[in-house]
Amino acid sequence: MGENSVFLHICCGPCSLMPVMHLRKEGFEVTAFFFNPNIHPEEEYEFRRACAQLAAEKLDYPLVLAGEAQAPAKWIKALNGITAEGERCVQCYRQRLLATALEAKKHGFRFFTTSLLYSRYQHHEAICREAEQVALETGVAFLYRDFRPYWYDGINLSKELGLYRQKWCGCLLSRKEAEIQREQRAEQKRQKALVRKLAMAEHMP
Ligand code: SF4
Repeated sequence: MGENSVFLHICCGPCSLMPVMHLRKEGFEVTAFFFNPNIHPEEEYEFRRACAQLAAEKLDYPLVLAGEAQAPAKWIKALNGITAEGERCVQCYRQRLLATALEAKKHGFRFFTTSLLYSRYQHHEAICREAEQVALETGVAFLYRDFRPYWYDGINLSKELGLYRQKWCGCLLSRKEAEIQREQRAEQKRQKALVRKLAMAEHMP
């Protein structure tokens, strides 16, 4: 592999777009790696994997699909019973980044990095900490880039390309949390509408 070779972990198709485009713009040779045993249930995993393949076709980048990716039991075991949002994410990042760096090492890539650095909803600093640790353990350099400023460009392009956009991060706990947040937002909207209605009624002659 060349001096500019990067093995890019991708969590899904939409999140891969900006990292691939901006790394290429800098002159890097990018190969993507889909390794996400955190995505449940299986049907959702298949959706996201297919979408990553579609994104790879559209942007014409090489994509490696991890054969053992759908191994929820192994992923859950590695969480060691930690369920709190944030804490469990650190374990989740570590698993995916370690697998990425080991695969990068096997194939002789100079750097590894991740599309998780594109998301505004992930714990950016924790991802960096875990990636640096993994780099120390494996000897593969971590290439840090902050892709978050391209958030809306990525959303617009993913819509243009017709890519599936998921509604929760990946694990079943995050699906439940996203449902609760949606319900809370809907309730707040209902409350605001009610207040407006009452205020209008008060001003009626
Ligand atoms: S919320 Fe996302 S990052 Fe956190 S544990 Fe679940 S899948 Fe992993």
